[in-house]
Amino acid sequence: MSTFTIINPTTAQPVKDISLADLAQTDTVIAKAAKAFETWKKVAPGDRAKLLRKFASVVDSHIEELAQLEVLNSGHTIGNARWEAGNVRDVLNYYSAAPERLFGRQIPVPNGIDITFKEPLGVIGVIVPWNFPMPIAGWGFAAALATGNTVLLKPAELTPLTAIRLGELALEAGIPEGVLNVVPGKGSVVGARFVSNPTVRKVSFTGSTTVGKGIMAGCAEQVKRVTLELGGKSANIIFEDADIEAAANSAPGGVFDNAGQDCCARTRILVQKSVFDKFMDYFEKSVKAFRCEDPNLDSAGMGPLISQKQKDVVTSYIDDSVAFQGTAPTGPGFWVPPTVLLPKNTQAKSWQEEIFGPVVSVLPFTDEADAIEKANDSIYGLSGSIFTSNLGRAMRVARAVESGNLSVNSHSSVRYWTPFGGFKQSGLGRALGPESLDMYTETKN
Ligand code: NAD
Repeated sequence: MSTFTIINPTTAQPVKDISLADLAQTDTVIAKAAKAFETWKKVAPGDRAKLLRKFASVVDSHIEELAQLEVLNSGHTIGNARWEAGNVRDVLNYYSAAPERLFGRQIPVPNGIDITFKEPLGVIGVIVPWNFPMPIAGWGFAAALATGNTVLLKPAELTPLTAIRLGELALEAGIPEGVLNVVPGKGSVVGARFVSNPTVRKVSFTGSTTVGKGIMAGCAEQVKRVTLELGGKSANIIFEDADIEAAANSAPGGVFDNAGQDCCARTRILVQKSVFDKFMDYFEKSVKAFRCEDPNLDSAGMGPLISQKQKDVVTSYIDDSVAFQGTAPTGPGFWVPPTVLLPKNTQAKSWQEEIFGPVVSVLPFTDEADAIEKANDSIYGLSGSIFTSNLGRAMRVARAVESGNLSVNSHSSVRYWTPFGGFKQSGLGRALGPESLDMYTETKN
């Protein structure tokens, strides 16, 4: 069995070694989950609901422990990490209301009756990236368990600690053995086996668009169900009629939160020409005030990047188009300061590619049509923001931007009770909200 050494991104020091499952061990867990499915799917709806509420309550009593673990493993700010652990609890509570409400339909037909059922799929493989280890795991397993499936949860190699702990807490809450199985391992071994082993009936993947395409192609072989939550390059569109100071003050949080390692990060800022200079003046002040520091501090706005490798990738995008930068600690740890670029045009690499670090690009636009065209000039379509005081324009532009999650005069993307997912190459299917239940059931007529 091989191992992987977890590194604390804040100090660059090793934390502990984690055993990685091999192919045979993965198949053993898959078989265990398939066996558990036979009883889990028959658990009475009210009892399944109670177990999920118990799981939520056990998570709730471990919020601080889980949050500290995430700061250690992932370098998330302590404030974010507490929210992330709380999000797992909230998502479990939300979907604990699903088992008794998993309605089918009665559809009028001549000479008889027609009824539909929402049937569970069976064993679900949930593959999670390193940027939000807790929430993304929870979005997958809560809806899948509520609908009567059993789950294999594969955390990213870099960030398995909170997933492992959540697996233990599930057992503590009384979720039966084999129902939620955490399988730390390599994507190319464990993740790939979820795709190729026919006992796994669905793969719910969150990660890069490149790996997601391979998973979709692999699933096609067995017509295996697949949900994909992939990359993003979201636009933050600021019109001249907006409160420019408020837009500039909120823009750093919209892109540098989690050190920019956020699929929803508003990494392309589009500002109407007439207010471009005014915006940049305020923006420079707000970027310089954004606190990149030890993530254990309550005051931290962002911490380090996840790894030296990620730091190298992100730094390679920082070219001679830098307008200004904020500050970051020096010394050990994978630090990159908040950075603002002024690319030459929309063809710039930094404008088109997902950087996944604290780097944002700004370009001007002339009018509404130009803003929409520039915003949609991307292979991605995950999130986006529109700043304007004109309600009609807000609605028009929100409908015209090809993206799964738009917000007006704010940067909110994720609420556990509303659907989340991408257009175009940002993904397929939806997590959270009522939609997610359809992702983990088949309709039987
Ligand atoms: P990644 O694609 O490298 O890895 C994601 C997960 O897939 C990991 O657990 C990895 O081990 C596994 N994996 C890798 N190769 C695999 C294979 N061949 N078969 C099966 N599994 C495999 O992504 P990452 O670097 O961990 O995460 C960053 C990416 O995730 C970014 O592109 C980001 O935009 C995206 N993301 C998307 C969302 C969303 O909801 N749309 C949310 C968070 C992150």
